[in-house]
Amino acid sequence: QVETLKEKLLEQAQEISRLRSELGGTDAEKHRDLLAAENERLRQEMKALEGELQRQQQAPCRDCPHLQEKAELQEQLSQLQREAEETRARLVELDLEVQQKTNRLAEVELRLKDSLAERAEEEERLSRRLRDSQETIASLKSQPQQIKYIIKTVEVESAKVKQALCETQSRNQYLQEQVGMQKQVLKEMEQQLQSSQKTEAQLRAQIMMYEAELERAHGQMLEEMQAMEDEKNHAIEEAFSRAQVEMKAVHENLAGVRTNLLTLQPALRTLTHDYNSLKRQVRDFPLLLQETLRSARAEISQAIEEVHSTNRELLRKYRRELQLRKKCHNELVRLKGNIRVFGRVRPITKEDGEGPEAANAVTFDADDDAVLHLLHKGKQVSFELDKVFPPQASQEEVFQEVQALVTSCIDGYNVCIFAYGQTGAGKTYTMEGTAANPGINQRALQLLFSEVRGKAADWDYTITHSLGMGMITSAPLPRDLLGKEPQEKLEIKLCPDGSGQLYVPGLTEFRVQSVEDINKVFEFGHIKRVTECTNLNEHSSRSHALLIVTVRGLDRSTGLRTTGKLNLVDLAGSERVGRSGAEGSRLREAQHINKSLSALGDVIYALRSRQGHVPFRNSKLTYLLQDSLSGDSKTLMMVQVSPAEKNTSETLCSLKFAERVRSVELGPVSRKAELGSWPSQEHLEVLKTLLGDSPGSSAPAGRGHASPSPGHLSSRSASIRRKLHTSG
Ligand code: ADP
Ligand code: MG
Repeated sequence: QVETLKEKLLEQAQEISRLRSELGGTDAEKHRDLLAAENERLRQEMKALEGELQRQQQAPCRDCPHLQEKAELQEQLSQLQREAEETRARLVELDLEVQQKTNRLAEVELRLKDSLAERAEEEERLSRRLRDSQETIASLKSQPQQIKYIIKTVEVESAKVKQALCETQSRNQYLQEQVGMQKQVLKEMEQQLQSSQKTEAQLRAQIMMYEAELERAHGQMLEEMQAMEDEKNHAIEEAFSRAQVEMKAVHENLAGVRTNLLTLQPALRTLTHDYNSLKRQVRDFPLLLQETLRSARAEISQAIEEVHSTNRELLRKYRRELQLRKKCHNELVRLKGNIRVFGRVRPITKEDGEGPEAANAVTFDADDDAVLHLLHKGKQVSFELDKVFPPQASQEEVFQEVQALVTSCIDGYNVCIFAYGQTGAGKTYTMEGTAANPGINQRALQLLFSEVRGKAADWDYTITHSLGMGMITSAPLPRDLLGKEPQEKLEIKLCPDGSGQLYVPGLTEFRVQSVEDINKVFEFGHIKRVTECTNLNEHSSRSHALLIVTVRGLDRSTGLRTTGKLNLVDLAGSERVGRSGAEGSRLREAQHINKSLSALGDVIYALRSRQGHVPFRNSKLTYLLQDSLSGDSKTLMMVQVSPAEKNTSETLCSLKFAERVRSVELGPVSRKAELGSWPSQEHLEVLKTLLGDSPGSSAPAGRGHASPSPGHLSSRSASIRRKLHTSG
């Protein structure tokens, strides 16, 4: 808007200057000049205003409450400017009119001048002719004739002149009239000019008014700007004060950091010092290291030399010790007897039922863990074995007593562990155990593993084991449990290597390398195990289960080779034929079992009493285990008994069997007793009768087997006999 206004003003100024040049220096012109000067001033003001406005526009005042007001004012301003423009347009029109009139006036004046000049010319011409005529007259007067004539002509001509003069005078008059008319027109035009000047003055007043309004608007605008400026300043001040506060906090922080820095500087100094000393050390280190290495090398080689000689010495001593140990062991075995008999009493179970039948018939001696008492038909019979495990004895406790035997297998001894007893007395529990609470079999293998691992630095060991069963006389050959055909009968043969050892060709041998292998093998064997029902026990096993573990060792330092065999035998039930209710083949089988068990008893008895002849060939089982039963071999008989009242007669039989195996003591006296033979089945029956097992007999029991005289019996056997006498 300002731009357009400016343009308009410029145009006006041009117009006015043009007008001025046309009209010359009249009063109106002076006035116009003044107006022009005024206009110029206004224009400059406008320019200043415009600058201000631009500055304002540049200054950010968004969201200003005055903005709307300003817009309104601007609207008003524009309206006013429009009006001013209109007025100016009218002024221009009027100016144009004035100019036209002035033009006409100039024209008229020009014409007037022309006519005046014409008239003057005419007058001059006429006066010249008059003068000429008068001269002519005078000359004529001097020349009377001629003059008369001339006068006459002049008089004639003078009339003409007079007529022409008249004409000229009339024309002059007309021209004067015309001039008067023209003057009137001029007057009128001046009047018109005056009126137009009046309008111009009015317009100027209007313009002034508008300008005043403009001024006011400008003032308002300035005020608003001031207010805005104030606001801005206020905001700036606030921001400044905030910034100052923040600055203060930053300064405080800085001060803290400075103090920190001050405290850190000494630390840095000490660190630098440390660093320098370390650097020195590092510089000196390679030399030091070399020196140390040299001395260390010398020391080490010296030490190695020493160790070598010590090693040689130790090896010599070790070999000597090994021999000594073997000798001592043999001596110990000789003293202890290499056949030991343990008893284990199982707890009363649900299967034993309730009532008097299931009552406990077994008691123990609080002071002697080798003694147990059986209440049989109102009489208390006491037995002494090498050790007795009460029902509460855990698998671990049992194994603890057995583990020395198991480990001697690593040293190259052959070991046999038998579980003997009637069906349901806990043989399988002791040997195999349950998955959660494994028995001797699994524990023995685990122990062997850990022992072998402990000696792995010096020894190479391989552990193999095979599982066989079915050594009952009706099916006298071992059946391989791990092989594909468990029912296949296998032969027992003498080892072709000339070692005199027996073996079963085709019996699967497994090399076991981890406990997992063992578990797998046991699971497999367990599934395949042949069991048949009898009415005594659903799971009565009518066969022997045999686990043979062979440990072969090689001492790397001495080149010594050892082979030890661990035979773990879960024997078939020892119950007597009559009780199991078996008939036909079952009966025969039961008889065979009893026969094989009594053959085993014979062998053990013969071995323990160191007889010259041991009847190994009387049963397949003893035949197979021959090498593990003779010589330096060790045998353990675990006699399992049930504590239930209803089983007392079987329990009695088992315990008698145990005691009989044990009763032959080592030493000079018992050695004489070795000459006797193991009692036959008939002898056993007789013995039982003597001990009061069969009705109608309560005679005091003597020794079941042939004993030369009481003087030949050991003191223990005598004590047992005493007990038997008192209980009898
Ligand atoms: P066997 O093999 O002599 O026929 P088992 O070992 O099968 O006898 O034992 C018969 C039952 O008695 C099994 O259920 C067994 O778990 C349990 N048993 C045997 N001995 C013990 C014991 N010491 N502790 C707990 N339960 C036993
Ligand atoms: Mg069993």
